[in-house]
Amino acid sequence: MKKIGVLALQGAFIEHEKMLEKLGASCVELRNKEDLKQDLDGLVLPGGESTVQGKLLKELEMDQELKERIENGTPVLGTCAGMILLASDIENQSQQYFGTIPMCVKRNAYGRQLGSFHTTDHVKGIGEVPMTFIRAPYVDHVGEGVKVLAEVEGKIVGVQYKKQLAFAFHPELDNDKAIHQKFLELI
Ligand code: GLN
Repeated sequence: MKKIGVLALQGAFIEHEKMLEKLGASCVELRNKEDLKQDLDGLVLPGGESTVQGKLLKELEMDQELKERIENGTPVLGTCAGMILLASDIENQSQQYFGTIPMCVKRNAYGRQLGSFHTTDHVKGIGEVPMTFIRAPYVDHVGEGVKVLAEVEGKIVGVQYKKQLAFAFHPELDNDKAIHQKFLELI
């Protein structure tokens, strides 16, 4: 059985666990340094608030270990704030977090009226997927080797770089399991 470590410091992590368990994976919540001492087949970085998550990752001394695992090829799925944690550059912000995907993201990128919205659009290799955006980022531009998987109204909202998947929306909040299935297939 595939064992997935779900970062559980803040945000929408329980919904990811439910979805992954329905697909036959087992999940462990990562809340502190001790939790990182186990073997994990994959990692999930949930949505929430990237600044809060980033601060806690540092304070709890979890940031380096997780970054190394991602760099060493452990598959990872980052959604919304999780996408921001993976980005090498964040527009209008000097600080970055894991920075393991060469791309520049814009936080809270959709104006006030579009702060939250729902749509259905195409994801490469998957097909039509429901997409729930909540104060979401989008990807302004990607670096070499980054595959664009999804665009909504001309903005990049899904990418893959090696074994890292990042989406600006929240696949864990809709009933469609295709994104999580794709992630498990990377393992
Ligand atoms: N606005 C959040 C941030 O900048 C992301 C929102 C989300 O994860 N739903 O981190």
